[in-house]
Amino acid sequence: MSKDNERIKRAVEIATKAHEGQFRKTGEPYIIHPMAVKKILEDWGMDEDTVIAGILHDTVEDTDLTLNDIKKEFGESVAFLVDGVTKLSTARNGMRDIDSYLPQTKDNFLRLMIALGDDIRVLIIKLADRLHNLRTLSALPPDKQKKIAKESLEVFAPLADRLNMGLLRVEMADLAFKYVDPKRYDYLEDLIKKYNKQASRSLAKIEKEVSDLLKKEKIHFRISGRVKSVYSLHKKMAKHDQNINEIYDLTALRIIVDDITDCYLTLGLIHSLYMPMDGRIKDYIAMPKQNGYQSIHTTVITKDKHIVEFQIRTNEMHEFAERGLAASFYYNEQKLTENYKKGKIEHLPTNLLWITELQATAAKLREGKKVDLKKLKLNLFADRIFVYTPKGDILDLPKGALPLDFAYRLHSEIGDHVMGVKINGKMSSLNTKLQHGDVVEILTSKNQIPKSSWLEKIITPHARSKILHSLNTRNK
Ligand code: MN
Repeated sequence: MSKDNERIKRAVEIATKAHEGQFRKTGEPYIIHPMAVKKILEDWGMDEDTVIAGILHDTVEDTDLTLNDIKKEFGESVAFLVDGVTKLSTARNGMRDIDSYLPQTKDNFLRLMIALGDDIRVLIIKLADRLHNLRTLSALPPDKQKKIAKESLEVFAPLADRLNMGLLRVEMADLAFKYVDPKRYDYLEDLIKKYNKQASRSLAKIEKEVSDLLKKEKIHFRISGRVKSVYSLHKKMAKHDQNINEIYDLTALRIIVDDITDCYLTLGLIHSLYMPMDGRIKDYIAMPKQNGYQSIHTTVITKDKHIVEFQIRTNEMHEFAERGLAASFYYNEQKLTENYKKGKIEHLPTNLLWITELQATAAKLREGKKVDLKKLKLNLFADRIFVYTPKGDILDLPKGALPLDFAYRLHSEIGDHVMGVKINGKMSSLNTKLQHGDVVEILTSKNQIPKSSWLEKIITPHARSKILHSLNTRNK
């Protein structure tokens, strides 16, 4: 056994001793949890210091072990990471809902940012911690389950997405969604199963046709089916008015090839077999997504009128799409760690430059300089839009939110009396989808009361429950 493994063994010993006599809600000894976090971090290919910090992540908060003990035993870097995770959970206390990430808890948010900005590995440990907590959520009382699940869906899964950790995002979102909306989850899961069963035979045929052609052209490839996750289907259905027929990537075939040239060759070959659908070719290789995701997507119509999406990428792109930042740690471990110590981050994939931004911001905050927090939040919560009241207060809403969603978020008294809305100073319809950065002014009248037609003009559950409540009270 190498010296490295001795360090990890030592960490396990120390954590086991520190957590002795503590139990999880599942009834198991507490050490099960840090050991599970260790396993997750190892699976992600994280460096040794991160794994050790993962083993020790709950000791400073929950046991007699001190940061100094950890520093003496494992060095500065491990102590630094454990401290970051501890700070993160302190900062997070009292801001379980994304709603409370707003100005009133700005200080907590700042602390969270500083903790993250110091070393992004803190966040990776936190994500592993949250993943295991989600996997064992059934042991908690229902109200806690809902809270943790909701927070995971609204904060942690989007963060995983920002780090392009695709596998993690999918697992977290699906685990959490099951608790947030169990009926919807079951319904969609069923829908996906049925659809896949129906599609499996035609997919097998398409897979064979494509494989034969690629072989003939001497392209080295792997091909496999990729099934859409429940939560991403849920989100997509919301975008397409719940019409499943408008969702073309329910099942997709993924082709992994050796290099970028082969990606484009493969695209051409697929288009020579099947008719590409207009406007459905997306070249994320030339133009990667903000989180660094790269692939070519194309949706085609086969001779039998089946609609299939293909995703074409190289091995590196595939690895990065599934494991994201963790993958780049794995590949650049030494350099990356060294550069972190020196405060340099140029070995991050260029598309994860937002992390650079985050770290620069953290540095500014530590020096007491002013920063643009709005911009920072945008980067972290990609599925949300930020809109302003005329006074400059900022509200975050899900993408696609309408003026009534905004009004009810301000106050149900305002929501109940909406007469009209001015968006960026112009009178606008209540059906107008709010855009990121809009200034929204709600006009009210005492005589106005909620109408049932308003239920068509909202997308947030919050506004829905307020409107239903008002309608019911007024009917009595
Ligand atoms: Mn934990």
